[in-house]
Parts: sequence; structure tokens; C-alpha cells
Amino acid sequence: MNRLDHRDPLVFDTHELGRRPGSLRKVTRTLEAPEGLGIIDVIGVPEKSQIAVELRLESVVEGVLVTGTAEARVEGECVRCLEPVEDAIDVDFQELFYYPESDEKGRGRSAVAADDLDEDDEEETYRLEGDYFDLQPVLRDAVVLALPLQPVCQEDCLGLCSECGARLSDDPAHHHEAADPRWAALQGLSAAHGDEGDGIKTSDARKGAAENQEK
Ligand SMILES: [Zn+2]
Ligand SMILES: [Zn+2]
Repeated sequence: MNRLDHRDPLVFDTHELGRRPGSLRKVTRTLEAPEGLGIIDVIGVPEKSQIAVELRLESVVEGVLVTGTAEARVEGECVRCLEPVEDAIDVDFQELFYYPESDEKGRGRSAVAADDLDEDDEEETYRLEGDYFDLQPVLRDAVVLALPLQPVCQEDCLGLCSECGARLSDDPAHHHEAADPRWAALQGLSAAHGDEGDGIKTSDARKGAAENQEK
């Protein structure tokens, strides 16, 4: 039954709260972020960076109602230009942690559930282990919900030049003379034919037309 590591900073003790419904306790804790808190390879809370957690624990009939906030720094990468993105998030969460024995109180859940906490139940029920509860899954869900799925360095980030990879927001006037490599190839072809006159003119004219269309 003692699966929770009581030294884990995300594990909280409700012993002092007691089990008299209505009793309240506030807990603040600054802790180090566990690994993988966020959206993998997109954006998340850097491992071991500080998270400020404030909890309000309330004893209710079925368990302990945990209401809280967490403030954390997040780091990721702009999906358009790949520049680093840094931000801060402030998340709210609320979860009821049932008392270990609350199953036997006819809440419509079979007694199997208590032995089956590791299974991914469709309706996830959190439960105290003795006096302890693990905030990690609750915090994880709250953080993931608060994160942008498509982080950008700035709302109007122009992304990267498809030709050379330059970051367009640094250089909005950036463009390439031979915008379309097919025209460049044509020019090369005309020159190779030694057909100085017509060929190149035609090619230039077409190129001009193409540029006009782009505008
Ligand atoms: Zn960007
Ligand atoms: Zn470019």
C-alpha cells in the first residue's frame, strides 16, 4: 500500500488536517519540477526549475478536497521559426482525493478499484494513501492544459524563409532574386545554348511576369 514516496516534493501529508469534515489547512511549497512536465518536444516546465504551489486542503465526507494554484516557468521552441520561447504559467486545479476506504461506503464503485489504482480508469479517481496524496498527476494535467499546443515566439512570427532558412521576422524585406529555381534553370539553359538574343529576353520577360504575379 505504501507506494508513495513521502520525500517526493509532490506528495503531501494530510495528517494535520484531520478528518473532521470542514477542517481547512493551507500549504505552500516551492518545489523542483519533475521531468517531463509539459508537452514532450514542444513546450514544458524545465526539469528541476522551481514551481510555487499553493494548496487549500479541505476535509470533506469522502476525502480531502484539494484546491490550488501553481506558478511555473515554461520553455519551448517557436513552431514557426524554432527560436526558444519562454513564458510563465499560472494554473488552477481542484481535485478530490478519496479516503482509502471510501469505496466500501457504497459510492457505486466496486472494491476492485482500490487494488487497481495503476490502471488508467476512464473516470480517474484519486485516492489518499494513508494520510498522503500525490499531486503529480493533477499538476501534470493542469500544466498541459495551460500550455499552447503551437507555441510561437511572437503572435506575428513570420517563420523561416523556405529558400535559405533565414528568420523572416528579423528581416521582413528578405527575398531572393531567383525566387523560383525553375526560372534560374531556364536562364542557365538559354546561356548554355549560346542563344544570347531571344532566349534570355524571353526568360527575363517570363521571370518579370512571375514576379508580378507574386505581388
Ligand atoms: Zn518564431
Ligand atoms: Zn531566404
